[in-house]
Amino acid sequence: MVKRLETEVWALDDCTGCGLCVAACSKQVLHWNAKEHPLLVPPVKTLGYTKKPLDSCSFCDKLCEEVCPRLERWVPLDPQVALAARARGPIKTGTPNGVILSILSAGRSTGLLDGVVMLDLDPWELKPIARVTSTVEEIVGSIGPQYLWAPTLDVLNEAIFDRGMENIAVVGTPCTAQAIRKMKHSTNPRLKLYQEAIRLTISTFCTGIYRPELIEEVLVKGMGVSRDMVMRLELSPDNQWLHAVLWDGDVRTIPLQQAEEYTLSGCGSCIDYLGESADLAVGTLGTSEDMSTLIIRTRTGDVFTRNAVKMNLIETSDEVDMAALDSAANEKDKRERAQEFNDVQLLMLDALADPLKRSEAIQQFVRLYRTPTRTKPQEIVRSDCTGC
Ligand code: SF4
Ligand code: SF4
Ligand code: SF4
Repeated sequence: MVKRLETEVWALDDCTGCGLCVAACSKQVLHWNAKEHPLLVPPVKTLGYTKKPLDSCSFCDKLCEEVCPRLERWVPLDPQVALAARARGPIKTGTPNGVILSILSAGRSTGLLDGVVMLDLDPWELKPIARVTSTVEEIVGSIGPQYLWAPTLDVLNEAIFDRGMENIAVVGTPCTAQAIRKMKHSTNPRLKLYQEAIRLTISTFCTGIYRPELIEEVLVKGMGVSRDMVMRLELSPDNQWLHAVLWDGDVRTIPLQQAEEYTLSGCGSCIDYLGESADLAVGTLGTSEDMSTLIIRTRTGDVFTRNAVKMNLIETSDEVDMAALDSAANEKDKRERAQEFNDVQLLMLDALADPLKRSEAIQQFVRLYRTPTRTKPQEIVRSDCTGC
């Protein structure tokens, strides 16, 4: 059984919904439960009138655990440089999606890429969909990620195995880039094809992503906006509003507070706002309204950016408010604390079965819940207390 995913990720509402475990599962027994995390659906053996589920996970390398970004703490990649960027050429906009699609188009035109795995929006149903695009026309015609959740990496196998792509870019949330980074560091040879095929990761800045029901409940039922009227969603630069831009030019505004109840549960403990595991990260924070901030974290990211500049598909300047980016990165301290709460929850579960772990669990619990005004925490829990 996939014990670690079940107890350390799904049970704690910590799944980011990236979809890499489903793609990597060698026996194809992980499926989406239509909620926020995958489920193991084992094959069933029929014996006479009885059906017996088979333990499909025995003798497996547990690739699902090998790639899950939520089973490990990760160290951010330092930014090499942060630029203000705007798309030129056919897209011509300063939005993050415009910049991303221009970098991808340049990469595809010059043969650096032969395909892209990305989140897009079905323009009729307004449903987020994971897509594989392979031509410049398809890339330019995409709407791009829209703050609505779908498991992006679900279509990775389609790109690599069905369509034989060898140079792929993955565009998604910071947690998607974390999953790819974790997978790339694995020494399991069965992941080699994925490792070699994924050349570039691009992440959007992200404070949370919403379940698609947001569209039906808030926009359609709440505001009376018909689905086919909506062109795209945009996050305001101050992260306070979600704007639905309509085809007639009108804009409907959803306060983020209202949208928050639709946030994916796994976002609650997320500590990555600025795409700290991606080759490139793009977002609205830190620059003027008609530009996006583009953070380059790796040499690969640098090559793709230079390529897009050379092809005149993006223009850049160094007018970035680094203080705003630093302050956003520091926000993660609060979330790091949330992650520690998850760890302590796990430890307490262990402590139920193992008395030796109770002392450690209680000490961690007290450390996390202690308020700064408490002066003598050592009087509450002694170091030799067994927590009985
Ligand atoms: S342990 Fe193996 S078979 Fe089971 S879900 Fe994970 S990858 Fe799939
Ligand atoms: S975070 Fe991604 S890899 Fe981990 S369980 Fe969720 S979907 Fe699977
Ligand atoms: S907030 Fe974190 S977990 Fe949620 S979508 Fe963004 S990067 Fe992923």
